[in-house]
Amino acid sequence: MDHDENLPKKMEEFLSKNKIAIFLFHGVIKKQKHIVRNYTRKNILETYFFKAMKHIKKHGNSISMNELLYYISNNQPPPPRSFVITFDDGFENNISVAAPILNDLKIHAMIYITTNFVDKNMMSWIDQIEYAVEYSKKTEIKLDFLKTKFELKTKKNKIHFLNHIRKYVKTSSNESIDLIVQKVFTELEQDIIYTSNDPLDLKLSWKQVNEAISNDYLDIGGHSHSHKILSFLSEQELKKELDTSLKLIKNNTEKDINHYSYPEGLSNCYNKKVINELKLRKINCCPTAIEGLNTIYSDPFHLKRIMVA
Ligand SMILES: [Zn+2]
Repeated sequence: MDHDENLPKKMEEFLSKNKIAIFLFHGVIKKQKHIVRNYTRKNILETYFFKAMKHIKKHGNSISMNELLYYISNNQPPPPRSFVITFDDGFENNISVAAPILNDLKIHAMIYITTNFVDKNMMSWIDQIEYAVEYSKKTEIKLDFLKTKFELKTKKNKIHFLNHIRKYVKTSSNESIDLIVQKVFTELEQDIIYTSNDPLDLKLSWKQVNEAISNDYLDIGGHSHSHKILSFLSEQELKKELDTSLKLIKNNTEKDINHYSYPEGLSNCYNKKVINELKLRKINCCPTAIEGLNTIYSDPFHLKRIMVA
């Protein structure tokens, strides 16, 4: 969704009398400092976030993910024009920038954390690649797994390459991601980085995760351990990915969680096997990233969301 003066109105258009809108965000930043990085606007500017939240609170009803689950489980109608705010991945700015706004406006939000990102302040593969492209002086890139050579002379070239590699990774297997990242850094003559304290990369600390848990308007859910696409994993890998994430949350917060969201969340990114393993671990709600609205008859493991940022 474009972030501009029309964002509040665009979000309002998703509010409906009998349906529930779940909005998906990643991060909220104070300033856009990079040329290429954040070109997808995964991190929304604070000023747009504030205006959108203020507007939607005025025209709709904020409910928590737990309340949504309650309405579904009890077949009870939610308040009209209900909406849920969610954040994926676990960016530090969720607490330092977004939370004060949400608290002031009394808006509930769910933060789904990727435990390896939180535990080691790890960057996602695409943030690593965007970093390499942002800072490289190379004017072209040729990668053995992509058919064509890509020019990197202009911002437009760089974005074209990034869109291409995004699509390639999301439709290929998890195994190759680490290797793809290494190859990009080598080809772009950059030293590979795995962690960064830039506001686009910094993740929540466990202390901040605990702050979120004790905040009346925030909840914590899981979002895998290493952000691998769950449907691409073997049974053993899938179990390990889920168990590791739940164990780390339990060890660091003393809480058992019952909420989760699928990494990437498209229809090919989860399946019955994934849902079954989540249910075996007492997870009872897991939204997708497929665009749409929900009703009280929606399946809590197939909930749709509206990607804002
Ligand atoms: Zn994610």
